[in-house]
This record gives sequence, C-alpha cells and structure tokens, in this order.
Amino acid sequence: MLCMTTIPILFTGIVIMFFCYYNFLKTMDGEVKNGLQNIALGAIYAYSDFYDENIIVGANENNTYSVSVCGKRMDDYLWYIDNLKADAGVDITLFYYDVRVLTTIKDADGNRIVGTVANKNVSEYVLKEEKARFYNNMKINDAMYYAYYSPVLNKHGECIGMVFAGKPTESIRRETMETVLPIFGISAIMMLLGALISVSTARGIAGVIEKEERFLGEIAKGNLRANIDANILARKDELGDMGRFTVHVQKFIRDMIERDGLTRLYTRRIGEVKIQYAQTQAIESGCPYCIVMADIDHFKRFNDTYGHDCGDLVLRETAAVFNRTLGTNGFAVRWGGEEIIVFYENMNIDRAYEELSILRDAVRNNRLNYNGEELSITMTFGLIEGDERSINDIVKDADELLYEGKTGGRDRIVVKR
Ligand code: GH3
Ligand code: MG
Ligand code: MG
Repeated sequence: MLCMTTIPILFTGIVIMFFCYYNFLKTMDGEVKNGLQNIALGAIYAYSDFYDENIIVGANENNTYSVSVCGKRMDDYLWYIDNLKADAGVDITLFYYDVRVLTTIKDADGNRIVGTVANKNVSEYVLKEEKARFYNNMKINDAMYYAYYSPVLNKHGECIGMVFAGKPTESIRRETMETVLPIFGISAIMMLLGALISVSTARGIAGVIEKEERFLGEIAKGNLRANIDANILARKDELGDMGRFTVHVQKFIRDMIERDGLTRLYTRRIGEVKIQYAQTQAIESGCPYCIVMADIDHFKRFNDTYGHDCGDLVLRETAAVFNRTLGTNGFAVRWGGEEIIVFYENMNIDRAYEELSILRDAVRNNRLNYNGEELSITMTFGLIEGDERSINDIVKDADELLYEGKTGGRDRIVVKR
C-alpha cells in the first residue's frame, strides 16, 4: 500500500524534475543565443564605420598586432566593448577576416589577445559561407565559451571579418545552477512532503483496512457479536461506508440465524442462551429481572376459522407489537407455537407489571383486518420475578401462572410477587 502510493509520487517527481531541467537548459541555450546575437549585431552597428574604412593590421617587433583605421588606433574605441563586458559579462571580439583586432578577452598576463586568429572551423564557416553561427562549447584562450559569430560585410557586400559575442560556459552554468537549484530544492522538498503526506495517509488507510479485515475475520469465524472500531463507523468516506456495510451484513446474518423467520423474535435455541446469559449478568450485578410467559388466547380459532395464513398473520403482527413495545426494557423469545417469553432486564416486579400492562393493552388494541374481518387478539401472561434458581424452574413457575390465567378466564396478567 505504501509502495503503491509513494513510489509513483517519487518516480513522477524525478521524471518531471529531469524533464524540467532538460527543457530549462534548452530554453537557456536559446536565450543565451538570442542575447549574444543581439550584442554581436549591436557591436557590428557600433563599429560599422571602422569596417567600412581601410583597416590596417600589422605586427610590431614584439610580434603583437596593432590595428589602425585611417590612422586611428582602434584601441581608442575599446570603451564600447569594455562597457558591454562590465554590464552584461559578455566578451566581444572584432575580427578583421580571421584576426582578432579588438577584444575584451585577455590572456593569463592580462594582455588582450589581439592579433590571434579564430578557430579554423569557425572562420571557414562564417567567413566563407557568410553565415552567423552559434556554438555552445567553443574553446577560446583555454576557456570554454557559449559563442556567437556573425559575419561582417563592407559597403560592397564583401565579407571582411566577423564579430564574436560570447559568455564563458562556466558563468552560464553557474547562472543556470543558481536559477535551477532553488527550484530543484523546493521541488524536492514538495516531493518529500507529498511522499510523507501520502505515507501517513496510506498508513491511516491501511490501519483502517486492517481493522475491517479483522472484523470480517471475526464474522467469518462465526463471532456475530464482534464489534468494529467506532471511529471507522464515524468516517464519512468510502472506508466508513465499507465498515457500515459490513456491520449491516453482520446484523443481517445474525438476524437470519437468531431470529425466527415468521415473527422476527429470537428463536428458542438462541433465546435459551440469551436468557441464561442475561440471568448471569443480573445475578452478578445484583440487578432485579423478571420473566413473563405469554400465550395468545384461543389462537387455534384463527387457524380453524380463517385458515393457517390468518394464524400466521396474527402471530407476526402480535410479535411486532412485542418488539415495538419492549424497546430497551428487554427481549422476547418465541418459545413455542404462539407462546412468547419476555425477559425484563434490570427491572423489579412492580415496574415489570406496569410495562407488561402496556404491552397487554398494545396487543389488545392492535386490531387486525383479515379479508374484511376485524380480528381481536388478547393474550394471557404469567409474570414472575427472577431469582438465582435455574431458568427451567423459573419458566415452569411462569408457565403455571399462565395456566392459572387461562383457567381464570384468559386476557389477564397473573403475577407472583
Ligand atoms: P389457549 O387460549 O388455551 O392458549 O388456546 P389456543 O387455541 O391458543 O391453544 P392451543 O395450544 O390449543 O393451540 C395452539 C395452536 O397454534 C396449535 C397449532 O396448530 C397452532 N400453531 C402453532 N404454531 C403455528 C404457526 O406457526 N402458525 C400457525 N398458523 N399456527 C400455529
Ligand atoms: Mg394459546
Ligand atoms: Mg399455547
């Protein structure tokens, strides 16, 4: 899970960074070329007068060249290219044919490299083809340059020299790095933050999935009372939906197993276990509890008069009244055909009697209509306060009270206080 979320982020981030770096370098090359081109053209314009005159290049006794134009030493006009160098960091060289006649580039001793000749490839291309050319790795005077060479034509259209504008590769690289490094730094930090956020999110999600897995495992093992972490159920996302759905499935399976198909009351098998458990809890906590044995009066008559379906309807609707009325006071179990046991939790006999009276009235008032006939249903109840005796004995006593109610005229509660 962690790998699934972080590796794509890191991989994408690295690819994007390299892509940006490559594009940045390409754009940078283009920008440098344009800048150098403009400067070279500016220099040609500034020195056009000189090129149109008769330039004389000569070597003196020290074998250093001097250049003069119509008697003026061109050195007097160095200020223009020197200013450009100072302002833009760009070196300028003016060539008379392939000989450097004016330059900002100096040798190790600090002397301008006037009189030296251009790289053969450059002069052959620029002077002969009369075309400008850009190089991003040109060696001049032992240093590497981004170099732009532009041919210079005189009035008659003859190519008589060229102008070089260049920047040391090292300074461009440094500028590039100065621009790129902060961007890379910020990107790397953002990437790491993204990865960290995704790791912590993925961890959280993995934790929730693990809990849901455990919960499903419990259900698979048959533990239908297992609880899922309440925080999962409180989530508003898909994981919360999954948790709620699983709880729903758990409840559905539990109901299918524990509840009677017709009445939705607990089956006798589960009811016995629940009653036993509830009694143990009550005894341990010292809380009172009560047991009721209830039976529909003359139920057989519904079957005999209207048919089995009608009997089923009476049973189903009466059980629904039990489930509705009991609420959290206790639970009801379908003990036999139309016999129901009620377990009142944490309740003494007086309160149980009150609650049971409400239940009896609810059953009585629940008039059913079967094929246009109004059915009136009554029940007889035997109510007893629980103690520490066995459930069997207590139920037997409740059954006796019920029998007493039947023989006494039905539709009543018989209570043993
Ligand atoms: P009493 O007032 O004395 O309790 O009389 P009763 O007719 O209610 O009692 P009896 O025990 O004579 O009849 C119960 C009948 O309930 C017998 C049985 O056929 C019927 N019965 C049991 N289970 C079901 C059921 O699931 N559906 C239907 N329709 N009838 C059932
Ligand atoms: Mg009956
Ligand atoms: Mg009966």
